[in-house]
Amino acid sequence: MGISAASKGSLIGVFGGTFDPIHCGHLAIAEALMCALPLERILFVPAARPPHRIAPVASARNRLEMVRLALEGHPRFAVDEVEYGRVGPSYTADTLRALRARYHRPLALILGMDAFLGLPGWHRWRHLLGMAHLVIVTRPGFTEALPSWVRPRLATPAQLLTADHGLAVLVTTLERPESATALRQALRHGPAPPGWLPAGVLEYIERHGLYQGKG
Ligand code: ATP
Repeated sequence: MGISAASKGSLIGVFGGTFDPIHCGHLAIAEALMCALPLERILFVPAARPPHRIAPVASARNRLEMVRLALEGHPRFAVDEVEYGRVGPSYTADTLRALRARYHRPLALILGMDAFLGLPGWHRWRHLLGMAHLVIVTRPGFTEALPSWVRPRLATPAQLLTADHGLAVLVTTLERPESATALRQALRHGPAPPGWLPAGVLEYIERHGLYQGKG
């Protein structure tokens, strides 16, 4: 089913990340959000040139390919290369603008708690709320209280459908231990923690020696 043929009254989830590499935590979160929220599908958007962190270890092409492999067999997940066609840093504000112009649908930007807490450091971050709802996912180790600016925007999953943008939901039921940083550290000298990588991604990493002795 193409996105244009999808049912009305639902949102498109936008799950951005460096995905260096994508891991089973990302997939488990996306699966859980499909149940918990009125999402018709989730677009995984690898950052071509992430602006808010040090340069990724794997190339943009390899990270994109790993996302592709991870999403095989998930009919309601798709990879979106929108950031690969632009020059300069991959700002989320530009990405949301492009996705709105393409899909003409309300968007829900998915952020782990660590990413959400860093949001005020992002380029034109307040504009993001003028283009999408926010979905904040709890993450082990990030237990800070929600900042006061977001509290008036908090909504239930059903309320997300009452507005085009600007609301926020906190999804607290997920506790996934995976982290790309911990994975890269493990892969530098040895195997990945069991169950942290989709089989196709693990095979790709091993075949290309992506993180061995690197980072
Ligand atoms: P790193 O550990 O290096 O920060 P990462 O595991 O967070 O990497 P990213 O590609 O940076 O991987 O993450 C993309 C998005 O997924 C971010 O919004 C991040 O907060 C979220 N995310 C990743 N892992 C988890 C997790 N275990 N629980 C909740 N959110 C997560």
